[in-house]
Parts: sequence; structure tokens; C-alpha cells
Amino acid sequence: MQQHHFPGGRPTILVTGATGAQGGSVARALLNSNRYNVRCLTRNVHSHNALTLRLAGAELVAGDLDDKDSLVAAMKDCYGVFGVTNFWEHFGKEFSQGQNLIDAVAASGIRHFIFSGLPGYAELAGGQFPVPHCDIKAALENYTRQREIPASFVHIAFYYENFFSFFPPQKKDDGCFYFGFPQGNTRLAMASVEDIGPIVAQLFACPEIYLHRTVGVVGEDRTCREYAAIMSRVLGVTVRYHHIQRDIFSGLGFPGAEELANMFEVQRLYIPQRSADLMESYCIHPGMQSLESWLVRHKHQFLQLLNETEYA
Ligand code: NAP
Repeated sequence: MQQHHFPGGRPTILVTGATGAQGGSVARALLNSNRYNVRCLTRNVHSHNALTLRLAGAELVAGDLDDKDSLVAAMKDCYGVFGVTNFWEHFGKEFSQGQNLIDAVAASGIRHFIFSGLPGYAELAGGQFPVPHCDIKAALENYTRQREIPASFVHIAFYYENFFSFFPPQKKDDGCFYFGFPQGNTRLAMASVEDIGPIVAQLFACPEIYLHRTVGVVGEDRTCREYAAIMSRVLGVTVRYHHIQRDIFSGLGFPGAEELANMFEVQRLYIPQRSADLMESYCIHPGMQSLESWLVRHKHQFLQLLNETEYA
């Protein structure tokens, strides 16, 4: 194993995706822990998010998941790496980018690699419903294991923040707000992006427990009808969940509609609950947020969003 130098006595962790949701949460938690030098990989060291990370005490390093040499250079003298790949920007290329990352981790003698993966949904459903953003991540997890890299994996549930971006409740003529997808009455595991970082930081802090393990990050595991009731109670408006059948959802015509339709269908049919992941998440990070506590903190922002969708 290669010798590691820890300037100032602190190990260095490279965080990929640090200017985004998951990596940003991880970078913040690692900085808050005061245990590490936090190095953030970005394609643009001049972006607003990159400069904010620098102001918060992180080191910035330019690199691209398409360029393995840039990743090896970024990992120089690192103890650990947090890895996240972004299907929704690169689609099928996510696999080769993930391979570059994993190959760079192997070449750099990284002692703890934490990869944001997901279960293989095609396999769960016997090949019936391909969900490339999950299936590629599952293949990358296998590739990491084949390369015998000291790694942990996190499987992050559907973000609460998706209600801000992909699925904002829309006002209908009856005065109620609706969100909908093909999840049916099956529980949908969810979590706030804000809680990913504290969990990953704990995994880095306790390699003796978490190396070679997969941890599901889950803050709530309820039905969408229950989520709608929580939103209604906290926001003081009526929010309803509307089940949309897979075939109808996949024909909605937006990019990724079929992929997401399949994702919900696999969850609806094959993932009845994630109670064990929820309990482990709260054990690792007792400050884990329920949808209700997260909504209370973001109520103003949420009401503003509902207002905007009303007049869209
Ligand atoms: P995000 O907020 O859109 O951020 C994407 C990050 O990836 C940015 O920091 C960007 O950095 C970096 N990036 C993109 N292409 C890169 C490249 N070629 N080289 C280096 N860095 C690159 O994304 P996110 O939500 O954190 O993560 C996305 C992943 O989460 C997806 O693959 C998705 O499947 C998975 N996921 C999503 C959910 C959900 O509910 N939405 C749940 C579980 C898993 P720069 O632009 O600074 O270079």
C-alpha cells in the first residue's frame, strides 16, 4: 500500500460532485467535523458553488470524470474519496465516468472509498423494467468489488428536495395541489440531501464498522398519501397524491419519463418497505430529518414555490 502524508496531521478526502447536492452535503459535513482536509473536485473552479466551498475552507481541484489522469492527480495524498456520478447529465456515459473514478481510486491506493450507488432495479424486477441510472450504479458497485477496493456504498433514497425540482405540487381547478407518479400505495423511501453528509462523515470516521458495507440513507418510509397529508398539515393547503400508471407516466414526453416510470414501477412492485435502512440511518445520524421537520424548516420556500406553480 502506498505511503500517505497527512499535512497538518489531518487526512485528506477528495469529494466529487461537491458543487452539487450529494457532494455538497458531504463536503459541508466533513468540513464541520474538523477532522479532514476537504478537497473538492469540479470542472469549474470559478463557479459560485466552488467559490463558496473555498470560502468555507475546502481546497478546490480541477478535474473531470471523463479524464482519469485528472482524477489520479486530484487524489494525490488522499486518504479517502467520496464518489458520485451524475446520470442525469451524462446518461449512458455514467458507466465509463464511474469506471474512471474507480480506476483512479485503485491506482491511488485510497484507503476508504465511499461510492453513492443504488440497487440494480432491472435485476430486482427480473429484467422487466430497465432503470439505467440504478443499473449503471449497481454495475459500478460490482466493478469496485471486483477491483477489491476498500469501499463502502450508500444507497440514497428519493430526495425530499425533488419536490422543489422534479415534482412540485401543481394547483388544479378544485383549489388543491397535486403531485403524481406511478408509486401507487407502496411506501416510498425518502431523505433530505442535507442528511447525506452527516451519514457519509460517520462512515469515514468508522471504517472498522462500515468498510465493505452498504448503508441505505432513509429519513421517511411512508406512502405518498401520507406524505401529501404531512404537506397539507405543515403548509396549510390541501395537497393530494395522484397515482399515475406506469404506461401513462412513461408517455408524458419529458426526458427520462420512461426511465422514471420504470423506477417507480419497480419500487411499487418489488420494494415494499425500507424500515431497516431507516432505523440504521437514525442510529448513524440521530439528527436525520423526517419530511415534517424538513418541511417546517423550508416552509416559506415551499409556499413560495406553490405560489409560483399556481401562476405558471
Ligand atoms: P447535482 O446536484 O446535479 O450535482 C452534480 C455534480 O456532479 C456537480 O457537482 C458536478 O460538478 C458534478 N459533475 C457532473 N459531471 C461531472 C464530470 N464530468 N466531472 C466531474 N464532476 C462532474 O447531482 P446530485 O443530485 O448530487 O447527484 C446526482 C446523482 O444522484 C444521479 O446520478 C442520481 O441518479 C443520483 N440520485 C438521485 C436521487 C434523487 O432523488 N434525485 C436519489 C438517489 C440518487 P461541476 O459541475 O462543478 O463539475
